Amino acid sequence: MALPKYAYFQGSIVPYSEAKVGVMTHALNYGTAVFGGVRGYWNEQEEELFIFRPTDHFTRLLNSCKMMLMEVDGTVDSLIQSTIELIQKEGHRQDVYLRPLVYNSDEIIGVKLHDLNADLTMFSVPFDKYVSNDTSAHVTFSSWRRIDDNMIPARGKIAGAYVNTAFIKTDAVRAGFDEALVLTEDGHISEGSAENVFMIRDGVLYTPPVSDNILEGITRRSAMEIAREEFGLEVVERQIDRTEVYMCEEFFMTGTAAQITAVTKVDHRPIGEGEMGPITAKLRDYFQDVVRGKVEKYRQWNHPVWEKIVV
Ligand code: PMP
Repeated sequence: MALPKYAYFQGSIVPYSEAKVGVMTHALNYGTAVFGGVRGYWNEQEEELFIFRPTDHFTRLLNSCKMMLMEVDGTVDSLIQSTIELIQKEGHRQDVYLRPLVYNSDEIIGVKLHDLNADLTMFSVPFDKYVSNDTSAHVTFSSWRRIDDNMIPARGKIAGAYVNTAFIKTDAVRAGFDEALVLTEDGHISEGSAENVFMIRDGVLYTPPVSDNILEGITRRSAMEIAREEFGLEVVERQIDRTEVYMCEEFFMTGTAAQITAVTKVDHRPIGEGEMGPITAKLRDYFQDVVRGKVEKYRQWNHPVWEKIVV
């Protein structure tokens, strides 16, 4: 992956090569950082780059900071403004991925959350697919369990917690699968390695509740709203058993990176007919139009980058 030209670092935009931290940095040693993952979508007709739901993303980032006792210099609005400046400076006129990261920057020894300083950094890179097989993914049930809210809060995007994701993803990929589904300690489906999940049974959409150690996904929220509002579907948040997936009609995963990924096989068993089902296909198409700013009703989710040149 090509490196960005710039990064937001210690309060200003600097060449990427200058955005460096020392090896004693607390976050590097102990995983005490929180991050976000935001997509920007290029709309060819309007020659505009739309950031998808930045208010939701930065609100979640600041909530993660709150959990971690991190004080960050900035509000949701100022973070959006810095994002726009950074992307304009980078000159992106294509689909991008933005990574905001708040990290404990003190260079000290000692595992704790209190009495530390936090710094914000951001960078953006061109981005395409995350799950390469996003129309017919084959997933497995991971032998790893999802971290519990009382171990490391799953609803925060906490850097150290993503070692759990890394174990889940690598073991699945090395075993020949595209992705993995992860169970909670009590054996209910929580989510994918970095995606929320939806199952369709008898035409009803089911997704695990926020109390099953999921990240409260912004794509999940968007898919639920679109399913209800645009397709009149019933969407139910409830616990999902592992074997329900073996007999459901459709299954898909949602995430900023994964977007809406159709899952068509689980542990060598076909889901439904073994190909993307009609509800998943419909939601995927509609979602693509929404993120590119093509649906008037959801334009408030699309934040333009180039409307006003600021750099
Ligand atoms: N769960 C986990 C563990 C994730 O890392 C992500 C990606 N941010 C998601 C779910 C999906 O969340 P979102 O739709 O907000 O990207």
